[in-house]
Amino acid sequence: MCTSHNRDFTQRDEFSDVTIKVEGTSLFVHRQYLAEWSGVWRKLFLSECEDPSASIEIVLEDKTLEDVTQLLQCIYSSQNYITDSNVQLMLEFAEEYEMANLKLRCEEYLLTQEVSIESLVIAEKHSLKNLFKQCMDFAKTQTMEDLERHPLKKEISEQTLIAIYKEKVYMMRDYANELKQNESKLKRQNDQLSDEKDGILNIFKNMGKLWEMPNKRCYKHMTDEKFDFTCRDCNEKMSREVRRMCNDGQHVRRYFILNNKSR
Ligand SMILES: [Zn+2]
Repeated sequence: MCTSHNRDFTQRDEFSDVTIKVEGTSLFVHRQYLAEWSGVWRKLFLSECEDPSASIEIVLEDKTLEDVTQLLQCIYSSQNYITDSNVQLMLEFAEEYEMANLKLRCEEYLLTQEVSIESLVIAEKHSLKNLFKQCMDFAKTQTMEDLERHPLKKEISEQTLIAIYKEKVYMMRDYANELKQNESKLKRQNDQLSDEKDGILNIFKNMGKLWEMPNKRCYKHMTDEKFDFTCRDCNEKMSREVRRMCNDGQHVRRYFILNNKSR
């Protein structure tokens, strides 16, 4: 913000038609401008002044020169930015003088700032709807303790506090539902995994019995009591059998993975 570009309102120009007197200083301004920004001033000019070319004097008893100058600098074409240091003051003026556009600019500024309980209080006080919504989303994520202990808690209306608590209840309800859903999903997965585990264990158990089964040997040794580890044919048959079972084991696994994905 470059203050050297700011207009000097104590200097009259050829179009000045309104004088604002504040703390003994005259500020020269323009009816057109003030009426465009402020509903209150528009009404004043319309009612007070039958001759549109006559100049008007407005005396502001309850304002400081500094504050009024800041306001004028915010609404004149040399428009100052809304900042942290002037936003509250501009909102007060906007309220008192019905300056909807100035209010809008303040809200736009506040929407770009970090949300907080402070901005919630401002939003509520000046009915800044968008800011209020943004702040409510923030407030409901605060813990009850943080809300209770907040120094600005007393400035939040009962109605808004109830709305925050309500939002928190909804949030918790959604969270509980989510947990319930996760729980049943995990239970399903658990069931499937234990089925899978049983299947694989079964295959291993059967695999261990292969060497005791005469029909899995070569035709020469089918009648032997014990497996002959030196027989090449028996070993080859056995290795084929083991490979087949391992393959079945993989199918068990794959079957359940596919099944889980499709759910
Ligand atoms: Zn054999």
